[in-house]
Amino acid sequence: MTRNKILQNKEETYYINDIKVGHDFLLIAGPCSIEGYAMASETIQAIIDSGATIFRGGSFKPRTSPYSFQGLQQEALEILKRIKQETKIPIVTEILDPRQINSNLDFVDIIQIGSRSMHNFPLLKEVGMIDKPVILKRGFQATIEEWVHSTEYIYKEGNEKIILCERGIRTFETYTRNTLDLSAVPIMKQLTGLPVIVDPTHATGKKNLILAMCKAAIAAGADGLMVEVHPNPPQALSDPDQQMNFEEFAFLMKELKPVIKFFR
Ligand code: PEP
Ligand code: MN
Repeated sequence: MTRNKILQNKEETYYINDIKVGHDFLLIAGPCSIEGYAMASETIQAIIDSGATIFRGGSFKPRTSPYSFQGLQQEALEILKRIKQETKIPIVTEILDPRQINSNLDFVDIIQIGSRSMHNFPLLKEVGMIDKPVILKRGFQATIEEWVHSTEYIYKEGNEKIILCERGIRTFETYTRNTLDLSAVPIMKQLTGLPVIVDPTHATGKKNLILAMCKAAIAAGADGLMVEVHPNPPQALSDPDQQMNFEEFAFLMKELKPVIKFFR
């Protein structure tokens, strides 16, 4: 492996609000896509009540088909800005294009680079030049080494605030949407020293597997979880099968609380 030494044994920390990244367990939840102010506001309240500390909501959606809902885009950013002002909770949203990095993102606390963009090197370089945490999701067809190199594209430009996210890879298995590669958690922690979180929602594509995979991720040493939550999943404009409703998420959080306490 030809990875750059700079990523070895990194143990620096920084804060997002009062969350100490790398030390505090990151509990990130929210809808796949922001579909309007009411659903976003309702969801942020529900996830806060259940104990999540960071809100995620898709603005620009990287859909496999160009005919699928592409996100509310600029309108979604305005909704996220409003709910951030109302709740003060840190916000994560994904961008797809270097041109989306502008003052409209000033209020965003963490930028997400999605699985499909892990090989978008101009985008990686651009987020490497800003002073904001970046969640870099693993490409669904990326090897560990390719993921490390993509991490370095960001790191090399000066941005060290990188949070890695294992979200499942494509294998011959079709029962689950992807195959969650939990070995990537300790491997990426060892190789990069960066925090690694797990997204069991996109990894499995199945709500009834999320709790088990969250528990396994925590035991594997994950530094956080990212889960999709929607007020009415069957009606969701993207990923209707895998998003949890508020009750399901509250139950998940209740079950995970002692597990997080045990392992962290
Ligand atoms: C997402 O988190 O909204 C998403 C699209 O996930 P991924 O990039 O992992 O498919
Ligand atoms: Mn989704």
